[in-house]
Amino acid sequence: MREISSRTHRSDNPSYTLARTRRDFLRTAAGLTLGSALCRSSWANAVAPSKRKVVVVTFGGGARDQETFAPEGQENVPHLMRELIPQSAFFTQVVNRGILGHYVATASLATGVYETINNFASLPPQSPTVFEYFRKNLKRPSSDAWVVAPSNGFNRIGESSHRSFGPGTGARVILPKHLLSAATSGNADYQHLLRDNYETPYYSPELEGNEFLLQQLENILKLSVDDFKTHAQTLSSPDELSLYIARQLMRQVAPSLLWITMHDIDVAHAGAYSLYIEGIRRTDRLCSEVWKTIQSEPEYSGKTTLFILPDFGRDSDEDAGGNGFQHHRTGDVLSRTTWMLVAGAGIREGVVFDRAMESTDLVPTIGAMLGFSASFAQGKPVQELM
Ligand SMILES: [Zn+2]
Repeated sequence: MREISSRTHRSDNPSYTLARTRRDFLRTAAGLTLGSALCRSSWANAVAPSKRKVVVVTFGGGARDQETFAPEGQENVPHLMRELIPQSAFFTQVVNRGILGHYVATASLATGVYETINNFASLPPQSPTVFEYFRKNLKRPSSDAWVVAPSNGFNRIGESSHRSFGPGTGARVILPKHLLSAATSGNADYQHLLRDNYETPYYSPELEGNEFLLQQLENILKLSVDDFKTHAQTLSSPDELSLYIARQLMRQVAPSLLWITMHDIDVAHAGAYSLYIEGIRRTDRLCSEVWKTIQSEPEYSGKTTLFILPDFGRDSDEDAGGNGFQHHRTGDVLSRTTWMLVAGAGIREGVVFDRAMESTDLVPTIGAMLGFSASFAQGKPVQELM
């Protein structure tokens, strides 16, 4: 197959070198074909735009190649390698040029603009979110766009402060930890599920409205407080709790646009390599669980496109300014060059693309798939997925 993606200055572009290495690892281990801009997907023939659904999963707080796609890391991501990637279009060079903080980077992914809001303040994104474009352009109700977010600091992510979109036009945000703490009144048995932030333990905004939350649990998720507490005792991490809530939402509400942000991997900030690896393995398994749920739920099966991508990476061992896997402080190539996996309805399977795209291309791409224009986004739709 002819390869026509960006040919210039490859040898002196470290981001491309990294992408090409990923491509070669994946072609060897997962048997992918090298794609080109001529390798289009086939949305037009797949599902009518009004029936299409999109699920976005952010891959948990950044993981490096040596612990994931490199030969020595592949044992940590068996579900991605064996189940998901062979059924996916995989992009090896997604560059994030924004601020490497989890909230602001996730907000940038959700707006298609590199946001500059304070990562540790309870502020809405400045540019319109994918949820606002989706709901306003397609006249969808609030029940059709949901975010499952990992920490209280994400409570404003569903809706921007942009003046073109009024209050109440964004996604509904569900914070599983907040729900659980409301249901258990901070009971010590649940502390391992309630840890809110791995970077700045002192930042955890107080949220109001426990009474309203518990009503949400029963009315929207159809879960009694007792059942929720009992089930939570069987879970081992905050992201498992998020998956549990996301599945309830998929069954009971079936939103057409669902955004799930994972965060367990970010435990790496604590400095324990084994916990970081455990986080990657769990995220790998939970991504596979999301994919299985999409396939088994009648509201999603056959009409859903799944996007999995990290918000950004983590520092390399080589950079003297950092401390390796522990943080994402240096802004080096490894921490800025991420990847994206796209699977499901309308997506060509088993191809890998190594041309550069940006984190901000996600929202325009979702817009092109679902039939709305992300008019303020900086990125462009990924043509290989159209
Ligand atoms: Zn972090």
